[in-house]
Amino acid sequence: MSSGYYLFISEYSNISDRYIFEEEIIKKEIVEDKKEIIQEKKEEVSSPNMKKNIDKEQFVKKKIEILQGDTFVSILKNLNIKQKKIYEIISKIEDYFDLKKIKTGEIINVFENNFGEIKKIEFFKNTETIISVVLDKEINLNIIKLTKNSFIESKEYTITESLFSDGIKNAVSSDILVKIISLFSFDLDFQRDIRIDTIVSVSYEIDEIIETGKLEYNDIKYASIIIDGKQLEYFKFITDDGYVDYFNREGKNVKKSILKTPLDGARISSNFGMRKHPISGFNKMHKGVDFAAPTGTPIYAGGNGIVEYVGRNGGYGKYIRIRHNNGYKTAYAHLSNYKKGISKGVRVNQGEVIGYVGSTGNSTGPHLHYEIIYQNKHINPLKLKLPSGKILEGKELEKFKKEYKIIYADHLSMLYE
Ligand SMILES: [Zn+2]
Repeated sequence: MSSGYYLFISEYSNISDRYIFEEEIIKKEIVEDKKEIIQEKKEEVSSPNMKKNIDKEQFVKKKIEILQGDTFVSILKNLNIKQKKIYEIISKIEDYFDLKKIKTGEIINVFENNFGEIKKIEFFKNTETIISVVLDKEINLNIIKLTKNSFIESKEYTITESLFSDGIKNAVSSDILVKIISLFSFDLDFQRDIRIDTIVSVSYEIDEIIETGKLEYNDIKYASIIIDGKQLEYFKFITDDGYVDYFNREGKNVKKSILKTPLDGARISSNFGMRKHPISGFNKMHKGVDFAAPTGTPIYAGGNGIVEYVGRNGGYGKYIRIRHNNGYKTAYAHLSNYKKGISKGVRVNQGEVIGYVGSTGNSTGPHLHYEIIYQNKHINPLKLKLPSGKILEGKELEKFKKEYKIIYADHLSMLYE
């Protein structure tokens, strides 16, 4: 074997970091077979076989970070690649990858030879796939699959400051902490509910890319929060209709949507949107939905939350507003009365009676005016796109019960073995 070949291999593995180039290994044999030819032709710079060209070349690897405003095209232009070649490169890549998906902060590796020519461009398609573009007379694209090792990790810790900061101290990745917070955000108000000595226990899936050592945190499998001896826990489960979702041991879904209709047996008498006001006669935005129902019909809290307003509120008459987690609020107007015990600061659960239908304020007859406010903007309650709470039943519940027991047993054995 020629020393030139060795040089190529060592340089190549050097510039390629720790990636495994399976394809290159296959091609190695071809190169060896053609050793004689390569040596004969090594002066021929414009050979279509890239291996021959880089046989004696050394490469300098440059890392280019994609900055705000950069495009793949602008980066290639900055590398002084000719317009025609840029289009060829782009069209080759676009068969496999939408270049618009390249994000700011990502790295493009560029390999330059002794003559300052760009010979190869590489970037990650995703954590486990590299797109490698070899530039020669022809442009060749190699899709390099890295090796993924999936495993599960379990952690348990006690909160002394906050769920997040104590999680970081206990080596839980911020990706997972964000997922825990979002998982419990319909149940808990993290500012108020979490107390010192709250216990957090979690297991989650990790993919490790062997060649790069990069870790990718996937779904939470199990999460539990124990506050003052009260436990909230959720298990991952893929439902029969194919959704990844979280359920407690009874098979009840984590996501408690805000109710679209917070009372029984009502009909919609006025929809959300522009309308002529029935009393003033002016065209006005109707910021809620009206449900016609007899006076005294119970009104339910649209979701778990804290009552932030109870009382007369101008044209709204007797009015209640509840603050939910995740930036949602719901408001209830024209009530005849409030449920006993409902006052400012009181915690209510979804479906709990908070008041009764009436016709107080600017109202032409008994109805509930219901508003959903998201980040201080009114949204149409009937078009609210929140996942609806699901309760597992029958065979699906049986399947879930089998699965959660395994998840839980695995979690405990990882923590304590
Ligand atoms: Zn209304």
